[in-house]
Order: sequence, then C-alpha cells, then structure tokens
Amino acid sequence: MKCAAGIEARQVDEVAINIDPIQAGGRLTADAMKAVIAYGDGYSVCDNCRKPNRLDYISKPPIAEFHKAVAGWLNMDTARMVPGARRGFQAVAHTYVRKGDPVLLTSLSHYTEFLAVEEAGGVAREIPANEQKLVTPDGTAQKIEEVIRDSGRPPVIAFIDHVDYQYGNMHDVKGIAKVAHQYDIPVLYNGAYTVGILPVNGKDLGVDFVVGSAHKSMASPAPSGVLATTAEHAKEMFRTTAITGDVTNRKFGIKEPAMMGCTLMGVTLVGMMASFPHVKERVKHFERELENHRIVTEALLSVEGTEILSEYPRKHTMTRVETIASFDRVAEVHKKRGYYFSSALEERGVTGLIPGATKVWKFNTYGTTRKQAEYLAHAFVEIARENGLKVS
Ligand SMILES: *Cc1c(COP(=O)(O)O)cnc(C)c1O
Repeated sequence: MKCAAGIEARQVDEVAINIDPIQAGGRLTADAMKAVIAYGDGYSVCDNCRKPNRLDYISKPPIAEFHKAVAGWLNMDTARMVPGARRGFQAVAHTYVRKGDPVLLTSLSHYTEFLAVEEAGGVAREIPANEQKLVTPDGTAQKIEEVIRDSGRPPVIAFIDHVDYQYGNMHDVKGIAKVAHQYDIPVLYNGAYTVGILPVNGKDLGVDFVVGSAHKSMASPAPSGVLATTAEHAKEMFRTTAITGDVTNRKFGIKEPAMMGCTLMGVTLVGMMASFPHVKERVKHFERELENHRIVTEALLSVEGTEILSEYPRKHTMTRVETIASFDRVAEVHKKRGYYFSSALEERGVTGLIPGATKVWKFNTYGTTRKQAEYLAHAFVEIARENGLKVS
C-alpha cells in the first residue's frame, strides 16, 4: 500500500511489537496523530500569532500555557521547544562555549553532544566511565582536576547523560552536578532517554539545563525536543536580539537569537502538546515498565550463555545484551547466518532489532503491556530452544 507515489504506507507499530531502542518512547499517542493531521500545514500554529510575535506567546492553540507547563513539570523556570535534543545542546554550547574552551563530556556521551561542542570550537574532555560503565562524582572530580592541570582552567560547562544511549545505565547526575558546581561549572542534564519516560526534577538534581528529546521519549513527531533552564541562566540563554540593519535600521524585538526567533511551527509542537497529558501520566508509572522489562531480561538470561551488559537490576527499559555464547553460536551454523534471529522474531511479530545482529544488541520494552512482555519473553526462549540452545 502506498500513501503517495513511491512512498510506502509505513506499518510497523500497528502490526508488531517494536523493541527498537530509539523508537519505543517516541511512538505517537492517538491524540498526537489527530493533532498532526489537523496541523499538517506549514506555519499552522501561526494563525493566531499576535504581538509580541513569538511562538511561545501564542495562546490559541495554548502554546504559551504549554511552555509554562513543561517548565513546571521539569521543575525548571523557563522552557523552549527545540528541534530535537541536539538543537538544545547546540544552543547551549553556542552560548557558553568559546574557541578553545574545555567542555566536560563523558565516555558514554552521544555523538550529538560532541558535534555541538565541535561547532562552538570547544575541546571535548571525557569523564571516563568506571568498570561498571557508570560515570561517577569521583570520576568527575578527577577529570576536572586533570583539565585544570592541562589547560589552567576548569571546563566551561558539563554535558551529563542521565541514562546513556550505550548501556541504558543511570548515572548519578545529582552527585556529579554537586562536584561540578564546586568549580562553578554549569551542568546540562541530557534527558534524551528520561524526559517523558520517568519523573525528572531539575532543581532537585541541581542542574542548570534540562534537555529532552520529544521524538525519542515524549511520544512526539520529529524533530522535537525541549530545553529548560533556571531563571539565572535564562537571561543568557534566551537573550533577545540586539542587531540593527545599517540601511533599514530594523530591529527584531523580542526574538531570541539562540532559538532563531521561533522554533517548532506546526506538527511537531502540536504533536508534543497533544501527547503531553499522556506523557505526564505515564512517567508516574515507570515502575510498571521496569517490571515488564524484567520479565524479558529474565527470559533472556535463562538462555545459557546470554549476558546483560547493562547494570543489573535494570533501572531503565533500554538494555544492552551480549549473546556471543548463545544466539551467535547458532548464527555460525545456520543457513540464514545471523539473520535467522531477527527473522525468527519478525515471524513472531517482533520488530526493531538490527537484522543480522547476534553478538551485542540493544532493545527497549518501553510501552509494552504485561501481556506483550510475556509474549516477548516467550518468543526469545522459544527461538533459543528451537535452535538447540540450553534454557534453564
Ligand atoms: C537520542 C539521543 C540524543 C539525540 O536526540 P535528538 O532528539 O535526536 O537530537 C542525544 N543524547 C542521547 C543520550 C540520546 O540517546
């Protein structure tokens, strides 16, 4: 079925259990789907834009109210919507990083944080994760001291992922922020895998910026995300334009250069808004998600030779698994090679794993019902048994 010439109508989440690590939390709610259709036209949210002409002042649809609600929900003072977490990193880096400035990242940081630092001319200094693949306050203190020894000054800002994309491990951001603040280093909390998934309280964590990815974790269309900050940093971050044209003498009022004036102008913003009530509710039930996830990890662990590379017990539903001594042994002799694994899952209505991967892979059970989690657990065990692997 085609939705237009050459474009296949995509049917994935409608017909399968999708455990793709980056897709599970961004799946749209039915309300978002309706909003997206109604606001599909380009500048659709601008129908009722009145002076002072800025996206976050529009009251119909209730965009202004939404901005305040999101800031309050994160327990920060001010929020802006941005085209993805990466644009949040970029805006912050552009404001706080100058050429040659050392910037604190971690050995598990996402590439988009590196690119944001690179574009601003910063130097990437990574806090190494420890043997348990955790970034710690101690490791942070050591790295800051190292940077001071090398460059004669501390890093200008720290980008810290609460849950990293490699292991889905949860790092002690609160403890790390405490250490960073002893050196007056502001902290950006990267909540790409947490904002919209579990409760996030910026002030309690003691961070200066909270960045979220709405298309990854807030059931929203791409590209969308959020950048929130404290009153103190909002003045710098959301400074208003000061430029004047030399011929026309034009000025641009309260437009914010770091946000390029206005940000999400249609489907993305309205999609976020429509999902927001559901997202606010779902973060309160993260325990349930973890329980469902446990059903699946326990089933995987029952397959002899399988290892969970992420911290265990799990604190997040996105997990890294090693199956070199289990499912990969089958791949060595199977006529479909490594593809037997993903195709056996597809046959059972499970999608989202990298086709052919049987050594190290990631999956995310976020949003599955208990019944689906049990089905998934059973599917892994059945595939193991069918291929002669031992299950305990
Ligand atoms: C996905 C991800 C990002 C990028 O998010 P976008 O919203 O796509 O820009 C950044 N950091 C981490 C840890 C991620 O997992």
